[in-house]
Amino acid sequence: MKAIVVRQTGGPEALRLETVPDPVPGPREALIEVGACGVCSLDVVTRNGTYRRNVELPLIPGHEIAGRIVQVGSEVRRFRVGDRVATTQRSHICGSCRHCRSGGETLCEERRFLGQQRMVGGYAQYAAVEDDNLALVPDGVSTEQAAIAGCAIGTGLNAVRDTGRVRLGERVLVTGAAGGVGIHALQIARASGAFVIAQTTSQQKAQALAHYADAVVVHARGEDFSPQVRALTAGAGADVIIDNVGTPLFEPMRRSLAVNGRWILVGQVTDGFVPFNPAQLFLRNQSMLSVHSTTRVQLEDTLQLIARGVVTPVIAGVERLEDVAAVQARVERGDVCGRILVRPPAPGA
Ligand SMILES: [Zn+2]
Ligand SMILES: [Zn+2]
Repeated sequence: MKAIVVRQTGGPEALRLETVPDPVPGPREALIEVGACGVCSLDVVTRNGTYRRNVELPLIPGHEIAGRIVQVGSEVRRFRVGDRVATTQRSHICGSCRHCRSGGETLCEERRFLGQQRMVGGYAQYAAVEDDNLALVPDGVSTEQAAIAGCAIGTGLNAVRDTGRVRLGERVLVTGAAGGVGIHALQIARASGAFVIAQTTSQQKAQALAHYADAVVVHARGEDFSPQVRALTAGAGADVIIDNVGTPLFEPMRRSLAVNGRWILVGQVTDGFVPFNPAQLFLRNQSMLSVHSTTRVQLEDTLQLIARGVVTPVIAGVERLEDVAAVQARVERGDVCGRILVRPPAPGA
């Protein structure tokens, strides 16, 4: 099959189109003919070497996959050849450890993350994924929409509903709001009945964000935006912050968080550290919580939210797999509102 392979980390030129052996599905695996794969900032930081944890080279990037099943292993029960499916971010979980048995499969110690190990990823014509990590795509949801359901949208469902426990009438600040996770987290927070504030440094993106948020905070890079958040919340600050940026915005986010606030850590765009005094948090009874990708149940729920029109996937473009280096360069520059996908060449091409 044709696939993009990263043999050494580096610039976008590290993404090379190669012909590699077709994957052979194991007993619990379904072989998916990839219809579309989202291009996530995690793909970028894995390719450029910033993200190294559990990464094994060479690799085929891509963990936001949807397509059609063309072959199933002997122990696959929930799916058949011809089914349209979407993936979580993983190709394997054990299914029996303490985490897997308590809704915490994203923390399974045996987990294998798609696009980071064993040459299994979505930047390819085919990918073999165990059935535990798949969900059927409902009618009315396109393959492109389904591809980004797991990571770009499901992570937001995890952050807003299951980790942040956002309630009707709360005030939610989403940082990095124009990114793939941010723009959908806005929609999910709004559907939960929150007053939703989007943060961006781009005037251009602010216009697009106004469709999805009750208010948009625009500021220059390095500027403290917390006075704007305070002004929008009658001085109180945000009850919940969905943080897709991390270190570069740490201090203004801390100043924007209300008493009793929950700070939900989702993304980190640099490898920099931050100094802070823990008393700054506990004297205000604030919590820091973490979101770690998406469970299969969250993926299934997300697909239903899309089918019902509660969340509208924001797709910034669908490009050829061969052009993914240019797409990643755009993602790296922060030049994308929503998610861009790539589509592999049709089989036999
Ligand atoms: Zn992703
Ligand atoms: Zn497990």
